[in-house]
Amino acid sequence: MMYATIYYNGKEEICSVDPVGNRVFLLSEFFKSKKTMNEFIEEYKDEWTDQIAYFFGTNPDLSIPLDEVKLLAPVPNPKRNLICVGKNFVAHANELDDKIFSDNVPKYPIYFSKPDHTLIATEEDILLHENITKEVDYEVELAVVIGKNGTDIPAEEAEEYIFGYSIANDISARDLQNRHEQWYKGKSLTTHCPMGPWIVHKSMLPLPLSLELKCYVNDELRQHANAKDMVFDIPTLISDLSRGFELKAGDILLTGTPAGVGMAFDPPKYLKSGDLVKCEIEKIGVLSNRVK
Ligand code: MG
Repeated sequence: MMYATIYYNGKEEICSVDPVGNRVFLLSEFFKSKKTMNEFIEEYKDEWTDQIAYFFGTNPDLSIPLDEVKLLAPVPNPKRNLICVGKNFVAHANELDDKIFSDNVPKYPIYFSKPDHTLIATEEDILLHENITKEVDYEVELAVVIGKNGTDIPAEEAEEYIFGYSIANDISARDLQNRHEQWYKGKSLTTHCPMGPWIVHKSMLPLPLSLELKCYVNDELRQHANAKDMVFDIPTLISDLSRGFELKAGDILLTGTPAGVGMAFDPPKYLKSGDLVKCEIEKIGVLSNRVK
């Protein structure tokens, strides 16, 4: 089951998505009341997925064509910053050698965050902010949406704490990232975290994940790797991050990008106005954004 946040008939709604039939079903029809994605994730019960599928399977007249709704970021108002992992693919860590810090493959996960104002949906524009940066770069990443509060989560139990998976583009202003040493500012410009198009519930993607990640800029394949090749896999990240740190339902964890970022080319291939960036993850979908 896939879940999205949409704008429809002048209102924000959450829905289940049938990506094959290109249709959505408003969850307000199922619940007989409106919920935000945060509320849906917090209150989620395992039996809902089957009940929702049955309800809409027997009420096909309630479906709405996907092209009649506007997709929003799947969790449009996260309760706190998105949590990100740096240098989590060996080839990417090596391509950054001497460009961002000097050590390459990390011994421990590198964490940083992006504020919620960076979030945009698929089909929305990435702003270049040319007055402060000349080096805007793309990073396709698998996003994990946390489903349950937890601290000190053992790696073997990590899947219980996951709600589902989505696609994110960790847009990065490399000159700001370098100049300020701490990555926060360079990772935090408005519109610099496209996410979507929806969340695939974890019941459709059991761990361990083996999913191809790809990023295209104007149809040129720039990044291509498999989620199974992460330095720190998803259970390890959830377990490590949650030690002495409460993960909360609705938190978003970006799990790192593969090799092939614009900065690593010689000369670098930074994003420019008019570029179309497509981040694609197998069994999830495509996140597509134009650079303005
Ligand atoms: Mg990243």
